[in-house]
Amino acid sequence: MNSPTAVAIARAVNARESSAAEQAGAMAERIAECDGAVGAYLAVTNELAREHAERVDARIAAGERLPLAGVPLAIKDNMCVTGTPTTAASKILANWIAPYTATAVQRLLDAGAIPLGKTNLDEFAMGSSCENSALGRTANPWDLGRVPGGSSGGSVAAVAAGEATVALGSDTGGSIREPAAFCGVVGFKPTYGRVSRYGLIAFASSLDQIGPIATTVADAALVYEVMAGPDPMDATTVDRAVEPVSGTLRDDLRGVRIGIVTEFGLGDLEPDVRAVYERAYADLEKLGAELVEVRLPTAEFGVATYYLIAPAECSSNLARFDGMRYGLRVERPDVGATYEATRAAGFGDEVKRRILIGTYALSSGYYDAYYVRAQKARTLIAADFAKAFAACDAIACPAASSPAFEFNAKADPVSMYLMDYYTIPMSLAGLPSLSVPCGYVTPAGGRSPLPLGLELSAPLFAERALLGIAHAYERGTRHAELRAIPELPRAAGVR
Ligand code: GLN
Repeated sequence: MNSPTAVAIARAVNARESSAAEQAGAMAERIAECDGAVGAYLAVTNELAREHAERVDARIAAGERLPLAGVPLAIKDNMCVTGTPTTAASKILANWIAPYTATAVQRLLDAGAIPLGKTNLDEFAMGSSCENSALGRTANPWDLGRVPGGSSGGSVAAVAAGEATVALGSDTGGSIREPAAFCGVVGFKPTYGRVSRYGLIAFASSLDQIGPIATTVADAALVYEVMAGPDPMDATTVDRAVEPVSGTLRDDLRGVRIGIVTEFGLGDLEPDVRAVYERAYADLEKLGAELVEVRLPTAEFGVATYYLIAPAECSSNLARFDGMRYGLRVERPDVGATYEATRAAGFGDEVKRRILIGTYALSSGYYDAYYVRAQKARTLIAADFAKAFAACDAIACPAASSPAFEFNAKADPVSMYLMDYYTIPMSLAGLPSLSVPCGYVTPAGGRSPLPLGLELSAPLFAERALLGIAHAYERGTRHAELRAIPELPRAAGVR
């Protein structure tokens, strides 16, 4: 996996040493070669990629300079792109064609990115392994018998397998960071409100956030910088200037205070996993950071809180899929029966489970006992972070408690929910948070090493500081460069 970075591609295309057409062509070949084995894409949009590449090359020829000139981009299939199927990996939207393009995607395309296709996800972004997709199976490129993580599993697998240079994911409770950790790439969730959600199919609106997936922190920073900033089409975007980040990322951690969370002690982790994180903390220190102990006493309630708030919001957001306006319709003699039959046939088990939990938590008899209490807990969790950040510039912890697991290993929904133990508290507090590769473990009897991710989180709107710290860590440790994914089976055909 030594494909060129987005920074290198944009530089070369702007300098006319390469062209967008050449980049698009090379990626189309790579996808044809290995996506049969990986299954990252639900749809490959070669024609669209070619059109965009031609346009980018014409703009460059006319003397324009584009920050993402010719950079191949994969897009999670819960983001709208005009004229392409946008399914959220659900049967209910299997044949829906988006009539407009999400703001975040549009900004990247305007900056010269090449849209390669739409990637697989857990249905409506609900899940942590991609196994909840109704439309395809994505494998972890490091070990094809394991999940890529989720819900942005397709986007992350595409970048890890070299089938995209960068990708967009969405993160509600961990869906960029956990899969990035599982596949050994960088996954970054910006502060809630930094990136427009216009054109992102809503799951839990107070948590959903689009973010970049890349092989390096610098690439993630570049994509973030281009797409962040206020959008009149999304009233929850924050009207606050986006500081330039690319080109300003630091290389050492002198003077940086990193918080290590007492409540996230490493004692419960498997010994080999624990050793990787102990080493990661020691590396932060070696690079000049001061490690300080911080407390997040309410973080342990994160998962319980999230699994009331997220389902509550999803039960409301998914009410629009009624067979009348979008996608699937299962026709019955009257309208009520049509709604029921459509939703029964169109939604998968996990989505139905969330709608039931959410509807229950919002019902009049239980609203105060569940939903209101969860909102109060959310406020306490955010307050804990604010207190912790008085003593540190960023918090470091594992992105997930284990490396990627095998398919069907987590049949019990709660064991799957716990995969986001370390990512959900930051989501509830709206914080910028990312996962950066921090080492590898080889599971017993396992064929190949599996990557682990270090999660770094910062105060609201401190993206620049956060990316700088992650960059210094990445540079100082070079984990992502020192390992390569095993050779993938070739020419297995594109789905
Ligand atoms: N795994 C979590 C869930 O299932 C988070 C998903 C996400 O961030 N979209 O809800």
